Amino acid sequence: MYYNNNTFVFLNGQWLPAKEANTSLYGQTLHYGNGVFEGIRAYKNDVGFNIFKAHEHFERLHYSAQLMHIDLPYSVDELVSISYELLDKNNLTDAYIRPLVYLGANMALEPVKEVNVFICAWKWEKYLGNNPIKAKISSYQRIHPASQHVEAKVVGHYTNSILATTEAKKNGYDEAILLDHTGHVSEGSGANIFIEKNGELFTPSRGNILPGITRRTVIDLARELGIKLTEKPITKSQLLDADCAFFTGTAAEVAPIASVDKTTFPLHWEDSLGYNLYQMYRQKVQYNDLQNQTII
Ligand code: PMP
Repeated sequence: MYYNNNTFVFLNGQWLPAKEANTSLYGQTLHYGNGVFEGIRAYKNDVGFNIFKAHEHFERLHYSAQLMHIDLPYSVDELVSISYELLDKNNLTDAYIRPLVYLGANMALEPVKEVNVFICAWKWEKYLGNNPIKAKISSYQRIHPASQHVEAKVVGHYTNSILATTEAKKNGYDEAILLDHTGHVSEGSGANIFIEKNGELFTPSRGNILPGITRRTVIDLARELGIKLTEKPITKSQLLDADCAFFTGTAAEVAPIASVDKTTFPLHWEDSLGYNLYQMYRQKVQYNDLQNQTII
Protein backbone atom coordinates (compact mmCIF):
# COMPACT_ATOMS: atom_id res chain seq x y z
CA MET A 1 0.00 0.00 0.00
CA TYR A 2 2.74 2.48 0.90
CA TYR A 3 5.24 1.41 -1.73
CA ASN A 4 5.86 -0.92 -4.60
CA ASN A 5 8.90 -2.09 -6.57
CA ASN A 6 9.22 1.30 -8.28
CA THR A 7 9.02 3.52 -5.21
CA PHE A 8 11.99 5.69 -4.23
CA VAL A 9 12.56 7.10 -0.78
CA PHE A 10 15.01 9.63 0.64
CA LEU A 11 17.23 8.31 3.43
CA ASN A 12 20.11 10.33 4.85
CA GLY A 13 21.04 12.04 1.60
CA GLN A 14 20.50 9.03 -0.67
CA TRP A 15 17.70 8.06 -3.01
CA LEU A 16 16.94 4.38 -2.47
CA PRO A 17 14.31 1.96 -3.70
CA ALA A 18 11.83 1.71 -0.80
CA LYS A 19 12.27 -2.05 -0.64
CA GLU A 20 16.00 -1.62 0.02
CA ALA A 21 15.72 1.05 2.71
CA ASN A 22 16.20 -0.34 6.19
CA THR A 23 17.27 0.55 9.70
CA SER A 24 18.70 -0.85 12.95
CA LEU A 25 16.52 -2.67 15.45
CA TYR A 26 18.40 -0.94 18.26
CA GLY A 27 17.33 2.64 17.56
CA GLN A 28 16.06 4.86 20.37
CA THR A 29 12.99 5.86 18.36
CA LEU A 30 11.90 2.25 18.00
CA HIS A 31 12.39 1.47 21.67
CA TYR A 32 11.29 4.66 23.37
CA GLY A 33 9.38 6.70 20.80
CA ASN A 34 11.81 9.61 20.73
CA GLY A 35 11.59 10.76 17.13
CA VAL A 36 9.71 13.49 15.29
CA PHE A 37 7.72 13.50 12.10
CA GLU A 38 5.41 15.43 9.81
CA GLY A 39 2.42 14.76 7.62
CA ILE A 40 2.22 16.92 4.50
CA ARG A 41 -0.04 16.85 1.45
CA ALA A 42 0.62 17.70 -2.15
CA TYR A 43 -2.16 18.57 -4.56
CA LYS A 44 -2.23 18.28 -8.33
CA ASN A 45 -2.84 21.52 -10.21
CA ASP A 46 -2.64 22.92 -13.76
CA VAL A 47 1.10 23.35 -13.63
CA GLY A 48 2.05 20.15 -11.83
CA PHE A 49 1.52 20.05 -8.11
CA ASN A 50 1.70 22.15 -5.01
CA ILE A 51 3.02 20.95 -1.65
CA PHE A 52 0.67 22.76 0.67
CA LYS A 53 2.42 24.84 3.35
CA ALA A 54 5.63 22.89 2.87
CA HIS A 55 7.71 25.49 4.69
CA GLU A 56 5.37 25.60 7.68
CA HIS A 57 5.49 21.81 8.01
CA PHE A 58 9.28 21.64 7.91
CA GLU A 59 9.52 24.56 10.30
CA ARG A 60 7.35 22.55 12.68
CA LEU A 61 9.61 19.52 12.13
CA HIS A 62 12.58 21.65 13.18
CA TYR A 63 10.65 22.98 16.17
CA SER A 64 9.68 19.44 17.26
CA ALA A 65 13.26 18.22 16.82
CA GLN A 66 14.69 21.09 18.82
CA LEU A 67 12.30 20.44 21.72
CA MET A 68 13.36 16.78 21.75
CA HIS A 69 17.10 17.67 21.63
CA ILE A 70 17.50 16.27 18.14
CA ASP A 71 19.92 18.02 15.74
CA LEU A 72 18.23 17.97 12.38
CA PRO A 73 20.95 18.03 9.71
CA TYR A 74 18.87 19.62 6.89
CA SER A 75 17.50 23.15 6.63
CA VAL A 76 13.84 23.88 5.98
CA ASP A 77 14.62 24.90 2.37
CA GLU A 78 16.59 21.70 1.76
CA LEU A 79 13.75 19.57 3.12
CA VAL A 80 11.24 21.39 0.93
CA SER A 81 13.27 20.80 -2.18
CA ILE A 82 13.91 17.13 -1.31
CA SER A 83 10.13 16.74 -1.03
CA TYR A 84 9.51 18.19 -4.49
CA GLU A 85 12.20 15.90 -5.88
CA LEU A 86 10.67 12.92 -4.07
CA LEU A 87 7.31 13.44 -5.75
CA ASP A 88 8.95 13.97 -9.14
CA LYS A 89 10.97 10.76 -8.77
CA ASN A 90 7.84 8.82 -7.87
CA ASN A 91 5.57 10.48 -10.45
CA LEU A 92 3.24 11.55 -7.69
CA THR A 93 1.10 14.67 -7.69
CA ASP A 94 -1.78 14.13 -5.25
CA ALA A 95 0.20 12.62 -2.43
CA TYR A 96 0.87 12.43 1.26
CA ILE A 97 4.47 13.07 2.30
CA ARG A 98 5.86 11.57 5.50
CA PRO A 99 9.19 12.90 6.81
CA LEU A 100 10.45 10.95 9.82
CA VAL A 101 13.46 11.89 11.92
CA TYR A 102 14.56 8.83 13.86
CA LEU A 103 17.48 8.13 16.12
CA GLY A 104 20.24 5.55 16.06
CA ALA A 105 21.17 2.83 18.52
CA ASN A 106 21.13 3.97 22.11
CA MET A 107 19.37 2.28 24.98
CA ALA A 108 20.15 5.07 27.41
CA LEU A 109 17.55 7.75 28.12
CA GLU A 110 19.58 10.60 26.68
CA PRO A 111 19.99 12.54 23.42
CA VAL A 112 21.43 10.48 20.57
CA LYS A 113 24.10 11.63 18.10
CA GLU A 114 22.96 9.50 15.18
CA VAL A 115 20.05 11.32 13.57
CA ASN A 116 18.41 9.76 10.52
CA VAL A 117 16.14 11.56 8.08
CA PHE A 118 13.70 9.49 6.08
CA ILE A 119 11.14 10.94 3.67
CA CYS A 120 8.64 8.88 1.74
CA ALA A 121 5.36 9.59 -0.04
CA TRP A 122 2.31 7.70 -1.16
CA LYS A 123 -1.15 8.29 -2.55
CA TRP A 124 -3.56 8.60 0.36
CA GLU A 125 -7.27 9.25 0.27
CA LYS A 126 -8.83 11.67 2.69
CA TYR A 127 -8.15 10.27 6.17
CA LEU A 128 -11.46 9.68 8.01
CA GLY A 129 -13.19 9.42 4.62
CA ASN A 130 -15.85 11.65 3.14
CA ASN A 131 -18.82 10.58 5.23
CA PRO A 132 -19.76 12.57 8.32
CA ILE A 133 -17.93 11.10 11.29
CA LYS A 134 -19.46 9.48 14.34
CA ALA A 135 -17.19 10.59 17.15
CA LYS A 136 -16.85 9.38 20.72
CA ILE A 137 -15.53 11.34 23.66
CA SER A 138 -12.56 9.30 24.70
CA SER A 139 -11.97 7.93 28.16
CA TYR A 140 -8.29 8.67 27.46
CA GLN A 141 -7.14 12.16 28.32
CA ARG A 142 -4.99 14.12 25.87
CA ILE A 143 -1.32 14.12 26.93
CA HIS A 144 -0.64 16.58 29.72
CA PRO A 145 1.36 19.65 28.64
CA ALA A 146 3.45 19.38 31.80
CA SER A 147 4.53 15.85 30.83
CA GLN A 148 5.24 16.28 27.13
CA HIS A 149 5.62 19.05 24.56
CA VAL A 150 2.09 18.85 23.19
CA GLU A 151 2.87 21.35 20.42
CA ALA A 152 5.56 19.06 19.01
CA LYS A 153 4.85 16.20 16.64
CA VAL A 154 6.66 13.44 18.49
CA VAL A 155 6.45 9.76 17.55
CA GLY A 156 5.66 8.55 21.10
CA HIS A 157 2.74 10.94 21.51
CA TYR A 158 0.78 8.88 19.05
CA THR A 159 0.32 5.96 21.46
CA ASN A 160 -2.19 8.29 23.17
CA SER A 161 -3.95 8.80 19.82
CA ILE A 162 -3.93 5.07 19.00
CA LEU A 163 -5.50 4.16 22.34
CA ALA A 164 -8.25 6.74 21.85
CA THR A 165 -9.01 5.73 18.25
CA THR A 166 -8.99 2.03 19.08
CA GLU A 167 -11.41 2.56 21.94
CA ALA A 168 -13.72 4.63 19.70
CA LYS A 169 -13.68 2.04 16.90
CA LYS A 170 -14.24 -0.89 19.28
CA ASN A 171 -17.36 0.89 20.47
CA GLY A 172 -18.73 1.37 16.95
CA TYR A 173 -17.58 4.96 16.38
CA ASP A 174 -15.28 6.32 13.66
CA GLU A 175 -13.05 8.61 15.67
CA ALA A 176 -12.24 9.88 19.17
CA ILE A 177 -12.40 13.34 20.67
CA LEU A 178 -10.03 13.73 23.61
CA LEU A 179 -10.56 16.02 26.58
CA ASP A 180 -7.59 17.78 28.14
CA HIS A 181 -6.51 17.60 31.78
CA THR A 182 -8.90 20.44 32.66
CA GLY A 183 -11.83 18.46 31.23
CA HIS A 184 -12.18 20.73 28.18
CA VAL A 185 -12.30 19.55 24.59
CA SER A 186 -8.80 19.32 23.11
CA GLU A 187 -8.74 17.61 19.71
CA GLY A 188 -9.20 14.40 17.75
CA SER A 189 -6.54 11.69 17.65
CA GLY A 190 -4.89 13.32 14.63
CA ALA A 191 -6.94 16.44 13.90
CA ASN A 192 -8.10 19.69 15.50
CA ILE A 193 -11.74 20.41 16.16
CA PHE A 194 -14.07 23.35 15.49
CA ILE A 195 -17.68 23.84 16.52
CA GLU A 196 -20.34 26.09 15.05
CA LYS A 197 -22.97 27.74 17.28
CA ASN A 198 -25.44 30.43 16.23
CA GLY A 199 -23.44 31.36 13.12
CA GLU A 200 -20.10 31.63 14.91
CA LEU A 201 -17.12 29.29 15.08
CA PHE A 202 -15.17 28.22 18.13
CA THR A 203 -12.03 26.15 18.47
CA PRO A 204 -10.00 25.15 21.56
CA SER A 205 -7.25 27.63 22.33
CA ARG A 206 -3.59 26.58 22.27
CA GLY A 207 -1.96 24.95 25.24
CA ASN A 208 -3.37 21.43 25.27
CA ILE A 209 -3.45 20.74 21.52
CA LEU A 210 -1.16 20.27 18.56
CA PRO A 211 -1.83 23.61 16.83
CA GLY A 212 -2.40 22.31 13.33
CA ILE A 213 -1.37 24.00 10.13
CA THR A 214 -4.84 23.25 8.76
CA ARG A 215 -6.38 24.80 11.90
CA ARG A 216 -4.37 27.98 11.22
CA THR A 217 -5.42 27.95 7.56
CA VAL A 218 -9.09 27.56 8.48
CA ILE A 219 -8.84 30.39 11.03
CA ASP A 220 -7.32 32.63 8.32
CA LEU A 221 -9.98 31.62 5.79
CA ALA A 222 -12.74 32.32 8.31
CA ARG A 223 -11.30 35.81 8.85
CA GLU A 224 -11.22 36.33 5.07
CA LEU A 225 -14.89 35.32 4.88
CA GLY A 226 -15.82 37.63 7.79
CA ILE A 227 -16.91 34.69 9.97
CA LYS A 228 -16.64 35.35 13.69
CA LEU A 229 -14.23 32.82 15.16
CA THR A 230 -13.08 32.54 18.75
CA GLU A 231 -10.26 30.44 20.20
CA LYS A 232 -11.28 29.51 23.74
CA PRO A 233 -11.65 26.55 26.10
CA ILE A 234 -14.71 24.53 25.06
CA THR A 235 -16.62 22.38 27.53
CA LYS A 236 -18.05 18.98 26.73
CA SER A 237 -21.59 20.36 27.03
CA GLN A 238 -20.79 23.23 24.64
CA LEU A 239 -19.58 20.61 22.17
CA LEU A 240 -22.75 18.53 22.55
CA ASP A 241 -24.90 21.65 22.23
CA ALA A 242 -23.21 22.82 19.01
CA ASP A 243 -25.10 23.23 15.72
CA CYS A 244 -22.33 21.50 13.79
CA ALA A 245 -18.69 20.48 14.21
CA PHE A 246 -15.73 19.48 12.08
CA PHE A 247 -12.18 18.21 12.27
CA THR A 248 -9.21 19.81 10.50
CA GLY A 249 -5.87 18.23 9.65
CA THR A 250 -3.51 17.66 6.78
CA ALA A 251 -4.66 14.06 6.39
CA ALA A 252 -8.31 14.66 7.37
CA GLU A 253 -8.52 18.04 5.55
CA VAL A 254 -11.84 19.57 6.69
CA ALA A 255 -14.08 16.70 7.79
CA PRO A 256 -17.65 16.95 9.10
CA ILE A 257 -18.57 15.40 12.44
CA ALA A 258 -22.12 14.00 12.34
CA SER A 259 -22.47 13.14 15.99
CA VAL A 260 -20.66 12.97 19.31
CA ASP A 261 -21.56 10.03 21.56
CA LYS A 262 -25.36 9.78 21.17
CA THR A 263 -25.89 13.43 20.15
CA THR A 264 -26.41 14.20 16.45
CA PHE A 265 -25.72 17.78 15.34
CA PRO A 266 -28.83 19.51 13.95
CA LEU A 267 -27.25 21.53 11.13
CA HIS A 268 -26.64 19.81 7.78
CA TRP A 269 -23.01 19.88 6.71
CA GLU A 270 -23.85 21.54 3.37
CA ASP A 271 -25.59 24.39 5.25
CA SER A 272 -22.74 24.98 7.68
CA LEU A 273 -19.85 27.43 7.86
CA GLY A 274 -17.48 24.45 7.92
CA TYR A 275 -18.70 23.37 4.50
CA ASN A 276 -18.01 26.85 3.04
CA LEU A 277 -14.56 26.78 4.57
CA TYR A 278 -13.96 23.30 3.17
CA GLN A 279 -14.76 24.57 -0.36
CA MET A 280 -12.31 27.43 0.08
CA TYR A 281 -9.71 25.13 1.58
CA ARG A 282 -9.85 22.85 -1.48
CA GLN A 283 -9.15 25.86 -3.73
CA LYS A 284 -6.34 27.13 -1.57
CA VAL A 285 -4.38 23.88 -1.27
CA GLN A 286 -3.90 23.64 -5.00
CA TYR A 287 -2.29 27.00 -5.50
CA ASN A 288 -0.77 28.24 -2.29
CA ASP A 289 3.04 28.16 -2.22
CA LEU A 290 3.19 28.20 -6.00
CA GLN A 291 6.25 30.41 -5.78
CA ASN A 292 8.22 27.69 -4.03
CA GLN A 293 7.35 25.27 -6.75
CA THR A 294 8.72 27.43 -9.55
CA ILE A 295 11.94 28.19 -7.70
CA ILE A 296 12.79 24.52 -7.18
N1 PMP B 1 -3.68 17.24 16.18
C1 PMP B 1 -2.95 16.11 16.11
C2 PMP B 1 -2.76 15.31 17.34
C3 PMP B 1 -2.38 15.72 14.89
O1 PMP B 1 -1.68 14.60 14.81
C4 PMP B 1 -2.60 16.50 13.74
C5 PMP B 1 -2.00 16.09 12.42
N2 PMP B 1 -0.71 16.59 12.27
C6 PMP B 1 -3.36 17.67 13.86
C7 PMP B 1 -3.89 18.01 15.10
C8 PMP B 1 -3.59 18.57 12.68
O2 PMP B 1 -2.39 19.19 12.31
P1 PMP B 1 -2.12 19.66 10.82
O3 PMP B 1 -3.28 20.47 10.42
O4 PMP B 1 -0.88 20.44 10.92
O5 PMP B 1 -1.98 18.43 10.00
